[in-house]
Amino acid sequence: MAGKNNFSGFDTVCIRGGHTSESNRAHLTPIYASSTYTFDSAEQAIAVFKGEEEGYIYGRWGNPTIAEAEEKIALLEAYGLKHKDGSPLKLKALLHSSGMSAICTMLLSNIKAGQKIITHFSLYGGTHELVEKILPGLDIDAVIVDFHDMSKVEDALKADANIRLMHIETPANPTLQCVDIEALSALGKKYGLTVCVDNTFATPYLQQPFKYDVDYVMHSTTKFLNGHGTLIGGVMVGRDLEKMKSSVTKMHRMLGGNSNAFEAFLLTNGLRTFGLRMERHCANAQKVAEFLERHTGIEKVNYLGLASHPDHAICKKQMRNGGAMLSFELKGGFDAGVAFINRLKMCTNAVSLGTCDTLVCHAASTTHLGVPREKRLEFGITDGLIRMSVGIENIEDILQDLEQAITAPGQ
Ligand SMILES: *Cc1c(COP(=O)(O)O)cnc(C)c1O
Repeated sequence: MAGKNNFSGFDTVCIRGGHTSESNRAHLTPIYASSTYTFDSAEQAIAVFKGEEEGYIYGRWGNPTIAEAEEKIALLEAYGLKHKDGSPLKLKALLHSSGMSAICTMLLSNIKAGQKIITHFSLYGGTHELVEKILPGLDIDAVIVDFHDMSKVEDALKADANIRLMHIETPANPTLQCVDIEALSALGKKYGLTVCVDNTFATPYLQQPFKYDVDYVMHSTTKFLNGHGTLIGGVMVGRDLEKMKSSVTKMHRMLGGNSNAFEAFLLTNGLRTFGLRMERHCANAQKVAEFLERHTGIEKVNYLGLASHPDHAICKKQMRNGGAMLSFELKGGFDAGVAFINRLKMCTNAVSLGTCDTLVCHAASTTHLGVPREKRLEFGITDGLIRMSVGIENIEDILQDLEQAITAPGQ
């Protein structure tokens, strides 16, 4: 069902990729609010069910509005990449109801009871809980290794032949740790593992994990891909087209984590400006990081685009630039964090990330409130740590708001 999708520019793919002509000639693909699809005859139904004729059957299995968003994301992840024989890389994407749902389909369609996954200690909180609390109940355990140390990773793989899947998240939420996808994927492949990357923070604008032979990429489309904070969604993208169309599609349908036409429409609409938004997000983030690094009220800035970040070299190797996410520590600990948040006049105090407007959150008083202090300090989440998803407002407004909120009156 893919249209003419051989565009040369990334932004052209954002705007036009995945669109197919529509029977009523609507300019944009409408929101197909229909749970089921009709057949002309019993014979045609048989052909569609057998897969001999393309066609939609039932909404949980697919929908034209969903198909457009899926194809657009598959094209963006494959943008400019080639198979070993030089032909353009083809990928298949499956849209999900959330990022967590996409991770579940990815894991459950690739490992079974008795097998293990290997991953890094710094992960998105939801993924961390899934791996620590849910999967062991299905007899799927996780081996946690520092992914910065390839010899430790190799030792773990040598020691346990039950490890069958590697889950990489880079840059990681919220610490912004970056790990080397090429080196990890090569090790994973050497031991016959399935290799998955959570590309939510980087997006295909900054980093394309399929360049390094990984098997799957997943996203929370809730974040930069939608970009407007109007939906919860996820996507799983795979390179083995046969497997994506058979066992992975089956798992997706049986788990029931499908997206819906309305949110797929919002996602497609958001994606049209994705390249442009990312350009501004990243340019603003670099300026914010440099401003904070010079500021006397700031203890430390964590931004991958600064030479001071411990993973700056890995970032330069695999990412276009330092991205749109950063965090910083205020001098004065927990109370300084709370006071800073309360003094903000423009930046939005909310969790999540990737929206047009700048979002800030004080981790110790929000996302990590329930985590014991010693444990969160271990993960680098200090008392005065502020996470910031830099928006696309004009930079002078962002800097002015930060300046007045960092510098308390009378200080
Ligand atoms: C938000 C997020 C998720 C989970 O996505 P949901 O859409 O909230 O289910 C997974 N991984 C990362 C890195 C995230 O930031």
